[in-house]
Amino acid sequence: MDLSVVIPIYNEEENIPSLYERLRGVIDPMELTYEFIFVNDGSRDKSLDLVQDLAVRDERVRYIDFSRNFGHQIAVTAGLDLSEGEAVVIIDADLQDPPELIVPLYQKLLQGYEVVYAKRRSRKGESAAKKLTAKLFYRLLASITHISIPVDTGDFRIISRKVVNALKLMPEQSKFIRGQISWIGYRQTYVEYDRAQRAGGETGYTYGKMIRLALDGITGFSDAPLKAATISGFAVSGIAFLLLLYTLYARFVTGEYEPGWPSIMMSILFLGGVQLISVGIIGEYIARLSANVRQRPLYIISDTNITKKVPHPSEH
Ligand code: UDP
Ligand code: MG
Repeated sequence: MDLSVVIPIYNEEENIPSLYERLRGVIDPMELTYEFIFVNDGSRDKSLDLVQDLAVRDERVRYIDFSRNFGHQIAVTAGLDLSEGEAVVIIDADLQDPPELIVPLYQKLLQGYEVVYAKRRSRKGESAAKKLTAKLFYRLLASITHISIPVDTGDFRIISRKVVNALKLMPEQSKFIRGQISWIGYRQTYVEYDRAQRAGGETGYTYGKMIRLALDGITGFSDAPLKAATISGFAVSGIAFLLLLYTLYARFVTGEYEPGWPSIMMSILFLGGVQLISVGIIGEYIARLSANVRQRPLYIISDTNITKKVPHPSEH
């Protein structure tokens, strides 16, 4: 099979019919053998029914129905696990990622690249807060990690079978797929596009999910926060030591000193703050460590029309 299109679905009933039409309009003329893999990530609307209807009418439509909402990154992972195509496109269901871009993505892949990602030149219909936080996050991540994760890029991209196979070797529970793909390497390039606004429905990415994705990205690809905790520890201890010298000097040499509590309170609060932040940072890493140690399967499938076996993390 030439091409698989992986589409994570969370409450997308308004978009599925037009998405399917637009995808076919783009891919049919390419004259490839292909499959669409819809991964229903615990939607509470009619998304699953719509996808199952499509699967009845079109045998190239595959679906995976999760037992609950596992999150966007895990939905994409499941789609990749069960895909068969020599090339795989990852695309959002809300038409923010234009299906028409699949043509240039595929062409670039044929030129010998293993990854062609779609880079956002602009983004429409999203709040200023979301655009700003996204922009800051991508730049922060780029500055603290050793691998080069492209800025202003989501998961909309095409990857080759080689890259899919490499991804399958990475069983981590906290998925940050765009980071993993950068880590894998190979020849990578990009195509620029203007990101449209969501066609229908509402975003499934709450602030909670966004923060979690950001922390997964940072903890998975950088130890800089841990080092920052150590450095702030040294810095604060250094300041405390200088203050100690000064206090002794004031007490025993000049005799000019003010007995009092403001300075004590200040140092206690400051130290307490630094300590709590450091413990929190360590906690973020430990939480992910323990999730990986548990070795639970990443997702549970309740229904699918794909017959391939799902790999368990311990089988890698
Ligand atoms: N999505 C998902 N599980 C979730 C949240 C979102 O599978 O828990 C899917 C969603 O259906 C869409 C894609 O992930 O296809 C991107 O989500 P969304 O458009 O809500 O995110 P945004 O574009 O607002 O960042
Ligand atoms: Mg969206």
